[in-house]
Amino acid sequence: MNIEHGHAVEARVSDHAVSDGFTIDLSGGSEHRARRLILATGVSDTLPSIPGMSERWGETVLHCPYCHGYEVRDVSLGVIAAQPMSAHQALLIPDWGPTTYFTQGQFEPETAELDAFAARGIIVERTPVVELIGDAPALDGVRLADGRFVEVAAVFTAPQTKPSSPLAEMLGCAHEDGPTGPYVKVDQWGATSVPGVWAAGDAATLMHNATLASATGVLAGIGVHQASVRAKAA
Ligand SMILES: Cc1cc2nc3c(=O)[nH]c(=O)nc-3n(C[C@H](O)[C@H](O)[C@H](O)COP(=O)(O)OP(=O)(O)OC[C@H]3O[C@@H](n4cnc5c(N)ncnc54)[C@H](O)[C@@H]3O)c2cc1C
Repeated sequence: MNIEHGHAVEARVSDHAVSDGFTIDLSGGSEHRARRLILATGVSDTLPSIPGMSERWGETVLHCPYCHGYEVRDVSLGVIAAQPMSAHQALLIPDWGPTTYFTQGQFEPETAELDAFAARGIIVERTPVVELIGDAPALDGVRLADGRFVEVAAVFTAPQTKPSSPLAEMLGCAHEDGPTGPYVKVDQWGATSVPGVWAAGDAATLMHNATLASATGVLAGIGVHQASVRAKAA
């Protein structure tokens, strides 16, 4: 097996007069052929555009309480709403610390959600957050549009996501629309809508988590191997 390190800039179905499968071009100019592909390109995140977010990403600006909740337990926490599912995210957070939900003036919870917020002790703040304050990556709190300061030691939010490479689109793979953005549509073995192309990891799921990403990589590897055995046995 050859291992080639490089950035794939184009993927296409091969000219069948030359070979079966796919042709991949790397940024260095080399061209590679494969009968089957697994796309595991991950996603790129676009954070809400508020000064102070990006330098705290992964430290005190977080996306997932199941990944980071333990690291920020027992301190004041915020949820900066970025999409309609943000109210659902906020409902999870009080198990790690007292929680304020910042609607940003755009994502007002529905009545049933407000009842659930009251039961969970979540404070709702409707004046938008305009800046994160503190010696980054530490966070002291957030500044609101009316000048008030609200003390929080970490905030959760939901960045917009998309596969970090257009390879799946180039190959014509179908995508699903998730609440944070598109992801590659796959079956339980990671097979995409294009025969011969599998996808794994964050690029092919709603839930972005390292263990889930590696598990779907295992499934896609099994799917590819079994497809190759079927082809050889035919
Ligand atoms: C801030 C932050 C904190 C997180 N913390 C946790 C945590 O605590 N626990 C947890 O379980 N998960 C956490 N996650 C999620 C976890 O990082 C992802 O679920 C996991 O890394 C996804 O793995 P992946 O292989 O699908 O994608 P990635 O890890 O993104 O890897 C994709 C790789 O493909 C490469 N690539 C992309 N395009 C091309 C191309 N065209 N050609 C060649 N190579 C390409 C990229 O350079 C990259 O190396 C966190 C995510 C973020 C953003």
